[in-house]
Amino acid sequence: MLEIKNLSKSYDGKNYACKDVTLTIDNGDIYGFIGPNGAGKSTTIKAVCGIHSFEGEVLFDGISIKKEPVKFKKDIAYIPDNPVLYEHLTGLEYINFILNIYDVKEDMTEEINRLAKMFSIEERLNEPINSYSHGMKQKISIIAALAHKPKLLVLDEPFVGLDPKATFELKEELRNLCSTGSIVFFSSHVLDVVEKFCNKIAVIKNGNIVSSGLTQEVKGEGTLEEKFMEIFDRE
Ligand code: ADP
Ligand code: MG
Repeated sequence: MLEIKNLSKSYDGKNYACKDVTLTIDNGDIYGFIGPNGAGKSTTIKAVCGIHSFEGEVLFDGISIKKEPVKFKKDIAYIPDNPVLYEHLTGLEYINFILNIYDVKEDMTEEINRLAKMFSIEERLNEPINSYSHGMKQKISIIAALAHKPKLLVLDEPFVGLDPKATFELKEELRNLCSTGSIVFFSSHVLDVVEKFCNKIAVIKNGNIVSSGLTQEVKGEGTLEEKFMEIFDRE
């Protein structure tokens, strides 16, 4: 279980990019995080993953990101909206580097090959990352994260820049991961995907959570897009 408790973050000490964000995410949840540009999604995500300092608390299976950051991070993976990779490494070297960091002892060759094939990047695995397109870099960071089967996978706008096949395969893999009890928490502007794919959703507006819970309850009678327009068209 991921518990985000009264998470607040200010970059300048005056204005808050997110304020008192409180969410509980259960094992097996595919949790969508939506809101317009600048609402505070990436800020919240970075705080949850220990990249930003923040006020409040974040616990994963009772372990505090503030008190035991290394232990917390061992179980999680984070894929930023713009993955920054070690460009001089090949894709395969980078994936193995990540697996080493996570202390994966088993031979993961078969799993890496399966994922690489699925994301149509197997023929480029031995080329340096600086020769890759944006989408290919994204695929490498996705493969590296999926390969160590994190208990919590956090993704910031994962579908931006992915081709339709990769989008389909990523959704399949995320579903498989959650079926083993892991949590997937991701931000997205693709409301159709969020509506169909997530069992729970949180909506953030000006740094505050304005709605959260089961997809059906958050969206109400109409579509999620209609709900979104209702929330954000008021002012
Ligand atoms: P979202 O991901 O929902 O588009 P962000 O969390 O990136 O929103 O941004 C929320 C607010 O925080 C915005 O006003 C943005 O300008 C500000 N912000 C984000 N990152 C930084 C930063 N590194 N330094 C200062 N302000 C930032
Ligand atoms: Mg963002």
